Amino acid sequence: MTAIAENIIHIKKELQAYNATLVAVSKTKPAEMLREAYQSGQKIFGENYVQEMADKQKTLPADIKWHFIGHLQSNKVKYIAPFVSLIHGVDSFKLLKEINKEAAKISRVIDCLLQLFIAEEETKFGFTVDEIREAILSDDFKNLNNICIKGLMAMATNTDDKEQIRKEFKSVKLFFDELKTQQETENFKPGIISTGMSNDYKIALEEGSNMVRIGSLIFGERE
Ligand SMILES: *Cc1c(COP(=O)(O)O)cnc(C)c1O
Repeated sequence: MTAIAENIIHIKKELQAYNATLVAVSKTKPAEMLREAYQSGQKIFGENYVQEMADKQKTLPADIKWHFIGHLQSNKVKYIAPFVSLIHGVDSFKLLKEINKEAAKISRVIDCLLQLFIAEEETKFGFTVDEIREAILSDDFKNLNNICIKGLMAMATNTDDKEQIRKEFKSVKLFFDELKTQQETENFKPGIISTGMSNDYKIALEEGSNMVRIGSLIFGERE
């Protein structure tokens, strides 16, 4: 068995107890490595760059589910709209509307996660809880028929302070539970909490994550 296959099987075993889904983050890695992962049974891949994801999608098996996990620019939505399975990092209402527009053109409904800003850093994108509360109650939102909000995505502060990270993941779960109390609609069906990467996924799982995005632990460090 290859190292990639071993890594995936090991991580999937850990995820079982939490009923969590593995997104294998393959950004910057060559298609052959994804193929190796695919042969071990992995079908969900996360990519950060539009062009790279579109190129890989063309050459790899058609039943792969492509998750876009990076910062998506509105003008690039059209390149992934035909095949993307879940967009994790929706961080503005403008972007959500653009995704809806491109999805409508090709008669698709695109699943999205709203990115919640939780980190103590200037650089991370995302909504505040108040912005999300406001957005999903707005009339504008009700008219978006070609997207469906499936939950939340968040990134913790890049720190060694485990308690800080735990606190941030707890806050995501708390807000997710609040969203779950709202009436489900055709475009609002929250079920996914996408938190946890190679360095912090164990904490994320303990704090309610049900979808982890893991790259370097599977494919090795990136350049
Ligand atoms: C790169 C990336 C990951 C994976 O990071 P690793 O530390 O390699 O596991 C997860 N989520 C996002 C949004 C990323 O950009």
